[in-house]
Amino acid sequence: MILITGATGYIGSHTWVELLNAGYDVVGIDNLCNSNIKVLDRIEAITSVKPKFIEMNVCNSNALKSLFNLYSIDAVIHFAALKAVGKSVNNPLEYYKNNLGGILELTQVMSEKNCFTLVFSSSATVYDANNPIPYQEGMPLGSTSPYGWTKLMSEQMLRDLEISNPNFSVAYLRYFNPIGAHESGFIGEDPLGIPNNLMPYITQVAIGKRPHLSIYGNDWLTHDGTGVRDYIHVVDLARGHLKALNYLMSGKGSILVNLGTGKGFSVLDLVKAFEKASNRKIPYQFAPRRIGDIAAFYSDSARAQKDLNWRAEYDLYRMCEDSWRWQSMNPNGYE
Ligand code: NAD
Ligand code: UDP
Repeated sequence: MILITGATGYIGSHTWVELLNAGYDVVGIDNLCNSNIKVLDRIEAITSVKPKFIEMNVCNSNALKSLFNLYSIDAVIHFAALKAVGKSVNNPLEYYKNNLGGILELTQVMSEKNCFTLVFSSSATVYDANNPIPYQEGMPLGSTSPYGWTKLMSEQMLRDLEISNPNFSVAYLRYFNPIGAHESGFIGEDPLGIPNNLMPYITQVAIGKRPHLSIYGNDWLTHDGTGVRDYIHVVDLARGHLKALNYLMSGKGSILVNLGTGKGFSVLDLVKAFEKASNRKIPYQFAPRRIGDIAAFYSDSARAQKDLNWRAEYDLYRMCEDSWRWQSMNPNGYE
């Protein structure tokens, strides 16, 4: 049995579908602080499997112990965390408490219950922004936000845990920028309130919820002056988790990899691809640079290809098509 924490969230729900499609027995937990219970019906509609789900906080040690008593859990994929970079600057303690508390309680209970296999959601935000691109796994680390520090500190905690208990094997997966949605249009990204990230903002402009996109800066040192990122289809990302799980379960030890496409696209590249895929015009205005942003980063994805035999398959156009299908079939998300 595989445990997914943060299972009803954006990446968790897509990974859950991939695991069920691959025949895994899965139990999901989430406290629904940033997701919707209706995800469960959607997962069932896609997979024809009724998802096993328990609403609980991953920081709740007693609830975790009961869960491990109820199910014989072989491995955990840990997505549960708060992820809004800006909010983490205003509420750092909430972020440290939730994200570090979650990993602490989870790994303590895992140790107690003899479950030593963990896939951890890390992020490209752990790389020092002064690194040259593409980012490689061995490059210097650093962070500019409490959110980023929770990921860096979690990685460190897990490394220390591995040293103290060599039974543990951990996959540290550093994600770049997930966008897109399941091809069915049944599950996708459903941000609360005004989206912070580019793709959900674009799709809300396309559906008429917002008048225009503000592009943060047109004077960056990039090919067209707008920010460059490594956008990866969420289903490709989800499949990377299955590869990582197989790697850990085959007893090869721990692994640290980037999950990205290895290609950078600008804000304007994404807008153009989206307009083509959706056949809609995206009005935009240039606005000042967003505080904390950097010009460009993308992944070196060679290690994931070599060690996990994984590479992203979907291109930018497909990411836009799937994001648009999700948004147009669900104008108000899961509500
Ligand atoms: P998400 O917010 O959609 O999913 C996270 C889920 O965790 C939510 O359903 C939320 O309700 C749940 N959760 C949060 N705290 C919890 C707690 N204490 N107990 C139980 N459930 C809790 O986010 P996502 O985009 O699916 O991200 C999943 C993971 O990937 C997170 O750890 C995030 O930091 C990491 N990540 C995301 C991105 C991205 O751009 N989406 C990039 C890099 C890393
Ligand atoms: N961006 C933008 N307008 C928005 C949201 C984002 O121009 O409304 C830009 C942002 O400056 C960055 C890129 O889009 O260059 C990706 O931003 P996102 O927040 O999605 O990802 P992150 O910056 O966290 O990598």
